[in-house]
Amino acid sequence: MSTQTMASQQQLIIIGNGMVGHHLVEQLVDNGALERYQVTVFGEERHRAYDRVHLSEYFSGRDADSLALCEADYYATSGVELRTSEAVIEIDRSAQEVVTDQGRYPYDRLVLATGSFPFVPPIPGNDRDGCLVYRTLDDLDAIQAAAENATTGVVVGGGLLGLEAANALRGLNLDTAVVEFASRLMPMQVDNEGGELLREKLKRWAYRYFWNAPPSALKMAKPAATAWSSKTTRCWKPT
Ligand SMILES: Cc1cc2nc3c(=O)[nH]c(=O)nc-3n(C[C@H](O)[C@H](O)[C@H](O)COP(=O)(O)OP(=O)(O)OC[C@H]3O[C@@H](n4cnc5c(N)ncnc54)[C@H](O)[C@@H]3O)c2cc1C
Repeated sequence: MSTQTMASQQQLIIIGNGMVGHHLVEQLVDNGALERYQVTVFGEERHRAYDRVHLSEYFSGRDADSLALCEADYYATSGVELRTSEAVIEIDRSAQEVVTDQGRYPYDRLVLATGSFPFVPPIPGNDRDGCLVYRTLDDLDAIQAAAENATTGVVVGGGLLGLEAANALRGLNLDTAVVEFASRLMPMQVDNEGGELLREKLKRWAYRYFWNAPPSALKMAKPAATAWSSKTTRCWKPT
């Protein structure tokens, strides 16, 4: 790239190296936009972008490299700077800079591709050891480590991700329970009848299900999770 091109380039910063942030980089590369932009990507996670949709396959043998959305050298060879393990903690709009714990970086254009974060219900004790979320490769490492010394697991939330997490816990040989706040499993996707069919179908997976369990009816007890539902008065205690 000529010195003239570099001088006329704008600084484009992308915050977030998830599926969307990575797709944007691919589009920029494929469409020749790097002629106009010098691109820097910040990723809070230590891994380069990976296929989060297939995250659970990590428990059935896939690793970070096979889930990755590109080769390890893709960013470098494309001329894009990827800064992993570096979270943006502030956007200084008046100075047009993003701030991380490692420095300040000027931008002309800024894209936020930061995705979403798991909602953790305000259940007393939700900050205890062994109370984990299911979203990143590091989360799955933490779950796997916690499972090594456990015999039981409770998944709070019986939606798509909750059932996927429950299947993962079962795969880790944990006696698994699912607690759902609504009156059926997957309440966003199916009606009552569908929820009943689903529960029947999943029975053979040997989960225990508790529904109609409002967050206020739950408490995370030490040393592991105890989940109970006041409405159904059924109680499940890990041993
Ligand atoms: C287990 C699982 C299964 C799923 N299955 C499906 C499915 O079957 N179908 C489907 O459509 N969707 C599914 N999803 C949802 C799908 O993964 C998300 O919709 C998709 O990943 C969103 O992409 P994104 O790039 O917007 O966000 P993300 O993939 O969340 O990426 C955002 C990235 O930005 C980083 N970041 C956030 N803040 C900062 C910051 N301040 N500085 C630097 N980096 C930051 C985050 O660490 C993250 O790496 C699933 C999700 C999970 C967890």
